[in-house]
Amino acid sequence: MSAATEIAAAVRAGRRTARDVLEEHLARIDARESEVHAFNLVLADEARAAADAVDALVASGADPGPLAGVPVALKDNLCTRGVPTTCSSRILAGWRPPYDATVVQRVVAAGGVVAGKTNLDEFAMGSSTENSAFGPTRNPRDVSRVPGGSSGGSAAAVAAGFAPLALGSDTGGSIRQPAALCGTVGVKPTYGAVSRYGLVAFASSLDQIGPFAGSVADAALLLDVIAGPDPLDSTSSPRVPAALGPGLRDGVAGLRVGLIDELVDAEGVEPEVRDAVSRAAAALEAAGATVERVSVPSVVYGLSAYYLIAPAEASSNLARYDGVRYGLRVDGDDVATMNARTRDVGFGPEVKRRIMLGTYALSAGYYDAYYGKAQRVRTLITRDFARAYERFDALLSPTSPTVAFPLGAKADNPLAMYLSDVCTIPTNLAGHAAASVPFGTGRDGLPVGVQVLVDAEQEPTMFRVMQALEERAS
Ligand code: GLN
Repeated sequence: MSAATEIAAAVRAGRRTARDVLEEHLARIDARESEVHAFNLVLADEARAAADAVDALVASGADPGPLAGVPVALKDNLCTRGVPTTCSSRILAGWRPPYDATVVQRVVAAGGVVAGKTNLDEFAMGSSTENSAFGPTRNPRDVSRVPGGSSGGSAAAVAAGFAPLALGSDTGGSIRQPAALCGTVGVKPTYGAVSRYGLVAFASSLDQIGPFAGSVADAALLLDVIAGPDPLDSTSSPRVPAALGPGLRDGVAGLRVGLIDELVDAEGVEPEVRDAVSRAAAALEAAGATVERVSVPSVVYGLSAYYLIAPAEASSNLARYDGVRYGLRVDGDDVATMNARTRDVGFGPEVKRRIMLGTYALSAGYYDAYYGKAQRVRTLITRDFARAYERFDALLSPTSPTVAFPLGAKADNPLAMYLSDVCTIPTNLAGHAAASVPFGTGRDGLPVGVQVLVDAEQEPTMFRVMQALEERAS
């Protein structure tokens, strides 16, 4: 399986055609997609036209860009002009966005070939991709297991070799956790590093778009293409980020790495996962970093704060699905009945649960006790991380407490499902960057991901640590 970096180099140099690369990937999709269900929509014809256009550019002596001819899969909550964008929800049935998300524009402008739209938990709410209105995605490493979520389709697409690269979104772990469960690299950039323009909003103060890839270098390639200021997103950082590619192999000698006590010992962390994190720490030490344990005490309240803040924001963001402006409409005798029926039929049970939780947390009389308190916890978490980053360049923890679990195992137990993100959520609350890198295997020979966390805008350091881990992963 060729890496994205190799494909782009070969296509740019005229050694391989983008069309040939695409056909190879479409053949893999043909062979296994019925079993994996990574995609809501495969854009075979559109991708062939895009690949031919890349080849025409090369033939004319022009450079298509750093993603020349690389197939890229897009989570189906990223707007694609004229192409259905469903968020794996019935409520968006028939809706075709009139514009492309900024990340989609950038991928295409860099010569990338959009292969299709990938499955997700409805509106990105979930950790297993079982909350999709279109049925679950299965983990390509073991199809009796979940791929994680909510970007399970994107993680599975990369793990199955359907596309060398994919984009997902991460509000509380939705890139890192499925990356860990499928054995791919997954990156949640610093809040504001990547434009959210055209990402269907779940919780706007937490959502970030980021890459999935088969290697750290490939993840850097895609993040370099999509990151950077965007006037269309008022929360996008005005700073132009440094390119990640050049410093990738600078090593970790002299870096100070902290092992987060509270997350290594978090509820439900499997012994094999804890072992993998210890081996990762030892590998970094052997590579010249210093590793010490560090306490970041308030992260233990992260999950509770997140399940007030994220649903609160979601209840507001999802108010726009009213049967008038987008997709589905179920008629009624008056407008209020039409609104209610549309939302009743259009939203699945997890989305309804979040809307109810969020509406309750924001209601008069409870606002201070729930939403207000959660925001204060968020500040404490940010402060605790700031203190840790005075002493450490990067932090380490498990990505997910467990390896991939069987389909259905947590479907009826929301709390057990929510605990899948206990290690990833604190980063979103702080707005920092974090990534998951495959590091060995755990129970039943399934992949384990190690999480690398850094302060805001410290992606170059994070990628050096990730690269060092990849080189030493057993
Ligand atoms: N699993 C978490 C949730 O259900 C995180 C989802 C995400 O990051 N989009 O909210």
